Amino acid sequence: MALTRLAITRLITSAFAWSSSGKTNDDLVTNLVRDRRLKLPAVEAALRRVDRKMFVLPAERGAAYDDRPLGIGYSATISAPHMHAAALEFLAPSIAEKGSVLDVGCGSGYLLAAFAALGPGVRAHGVEYVPQLAKMADANLRAHDASLLESGRVTVTVGDGWAGLPERAPFDAIHVGAAARSVPKALITQLAPGGVMIIPVGPAGGAQELLRVDKAADGSVSERTLFGVRYVPLVGGDKDEV
Ligand code: SAH
Repeated sequence: MALTRLAITRLITSAFAWSSSGKTNDDLVTNLVRDRRLKLPAVEAALRRVDRKMFVLPAERGAAYDDRPLGIGYSATISAPHMHAAALEFLAPSIAEKGSVLDVGCGSGYLLAAFAALGPGVRAHGVEYVPQLAKMADANLRAHDASLLESGRVTVTVGDGWAGLPERAPFDAIHVGAAARSVPKALITQLAPGGVMIIPVGPAGGAQELLRVDKAADGSVSERTLFGVRYVPLVGGDKDEV
């Protein structure tokens, strides 16, 4: 029986997505490096400092070091490690060791911990639509390293990411963890000159693309498509319809 081209593509894609899985957090990071999904030493060091197990549901702890997304409730997922690695690699250069970053749809809180691990001066602010998930992110971060929240280096705010987080802007980097219908204007406004935003754009459940948005020193904005992705939708945004 002949497999369709689509079925073959899916098989290859899923096998590849799993190939970096490990038995421990260090193992997972080592495999991401081996598979060339992680190249920057600063990002590698950050990922070794953040144990993914602390950010998954207790029932999923056995799968914490699998290179795949895991459900965290409320239709949300903690993204696959290779996607977190890709996002960090795009954003780390503009954050360096003391930048400020916004994570829209911070979900489990994993990326906030990873951004903070890039350097002792980094500030990472999360905005999350679902109050229960914001509470979960807060609890996960507290268990990972309570001093991050206590010092104010990491914050979690309940809100609609379409509006960004004006009280903490501007940001050297913005990560959006859910697919938007279009790039929210407020996020472009809140990006600092020299800043980079990574955002999935496209219809819910349909063809989505990861975009990289750069704001140059003179304030001009350019966009380019990186690759096709599949994210849960960025809900809300009623005031930002275009
Ligand atoms: N990056 C996170 C979560 C990804 S799932 C992680 O890896 O753990 C996407 C998240 O975006 C969910 O938590 C969802 O509740 C949140 N979300 C969806 N729409 C949002 C909006 N308008 N504003 C803020 N968060 C939103």
